[in-house]
Amino acid sequence: MAKPRLHPDVAEVLLTERRIHRRIATLAREIAKCYSDKEVTIITVLNGSMVFLGELLHRLPMPTRLDSIVARSYGARTTSSGRVRTRCQWQLSLKDKHVLLVDDILDTGQTLKMIRDRLRRECPASLRTCVLLNKPTRREVDLQPDFVGFNIPDKFVVGYGLDFAERYRNLPCIAVLKPEIYRA
Ligand code: 5GP
Ligand code: MG
Repeated sequence: MAKPRLHPDVAEVLLTERRIHRRIATLAREIAKCYSDKEVTIITVLNGSMVFLGELLHRLPMPTRLDSIVARSYGARTTSSGRVRTRCQWQLSLKDKHVLLVDDILDTGQTLKMIRDRLRRECPASLRTCVLLNKPTRREVDLQPDFVGFNIPDKFVVGYGLDFAERYRNLPCIAVLKPEIYRA
């Protein structure tokens, strides 16, 4: 089979689509084992997690409810502004529910910690976090995700839902862009 052509802006593919899908299948089994038949209320952090969640959701066997919130801290930059802005309050009641917070990537941890602390105030029965990617060396806050797809090095990545200035979300792999793209 012909090798898929690399996007011209990509310097390096960190994770191929095949590897990502295989890991998500395993991750779904880990999550299923943790909750068994209990209903899980998934709160997903848009926009970055939408591709990951789409692949994960249909592999979860237990009953689920789905809601979302929108968070932004980057804009057209590759480092967090440190100010996390969230839009869209979730709609579902979380009291006494098993809540699973799903995000694309855990970097400094500021975003997920802020959201997690807000969800915790709703008194869920349990509150766990799941991220596709984790950059453990970048952590600034005390947050250990319960479910992790991949630990990755400290590189700014795009694709599989992750963006740079809202572009590249549609790349099927996780990739590092050429430095000139950031400088442009
Ligand atoms: P944190 O608050 O943990 O520093 O950053 C979390 C958010 O920043 C993530 O949900 C994601 O939207 C964005 N982010 C962090 N690292 C990366 C990265 O390498 N690539 C992209 N595209 N976004 C990132
Ligand atoms: Mg995000």
